[in-house]
Amino acid sequence: MSGYIEGDWATAQGENMVVDGWVKVSLIDFPGSICSTLFFGGCNLRCRYCHNPKMALGQGPFEEVKWNTVEEFLKDGKGILHGVCFSGGEPTLRPDLYAMALRVKMSGFKVKVDTNGTMPENLFPLIRDGLLDYAAVDVKGSPGKYREICGVDVSESAVMETVETLERFGIPLELRTTVHQDLLSREDMLEMARWMQGERILYIQPCRTSITLDPRLQGTLGPDKAWLEGVAEACAPYFSKVIIRG
Ligand code: SF4
Repeated sequence: MSGYIEGDWATAQGENMVVDGWVKVSLIDFPGSICSTLFFGGCNLRCRYCHNPKMALGQGPFEEVKWNTVEEFLKDGKGILHGVCFSGGEPTLRPDLYAMALRVKMSGFKVKVDTNGTMPENLFPLIRDGLLDYAAVDVKGSPGKYREICGVDVSESAVMETVETLERFGIPLELRTTVHQDLLSREDMLEMARWMQGERILYIQPCRTSITLDPRLQGTLGPDKAWLEGVAEACAPYFSKVIIRG
């Protein structure tokens, strides 16, 4: 934690920090680790297929779990729990993410962050200071599709910067693409694969349409298994591994 500065500890005391949602024990959110997953309301994107619109829009009421409660639980779970997954919404929007990650690391747990990758400057302090053990970075589609899928202007180069910075610091990561075939065609997926290609793992996950931020997608048929398998096969040459999840 070379970049750690003394003043950070003052903001890391925990009394005022709050988590918006909490899955105490998760077997699926942190590859290879049993973790506790924390959710933070608010996101800078408005993905049409977003399955947790309330969290994305920051519209509570949320659970509002006090940080000290989380920490007590982690302390009791030592030996069973290995890590903490920070998820959202978009957790890198939270100014106290650094403080929380610092406390988690200092308690002996690993840290994972789920991010849309659009704000590398917010994630960088955690990367630089050795607070991050794993990251899941959303890749929403090929660069030309971001506006249509995410509903706002996005700097696609920022997403690439996030991925490349994680790699430069040797932090394991996965790329994740959520697919609805009305938003991403097979050709769009191939274009995305050519853009993001490398020694990287890509997870392709079908869009869940029971709840979506854009009501027009609600209840629509997501991609079927055969379509997904075909796309995964077509993308496979560009990555070290392509896995269908969900
Ligand atoms: S799916 Fe999109 S809008 Fe929803 S939380 Fe993730 S990045 Fe934000």
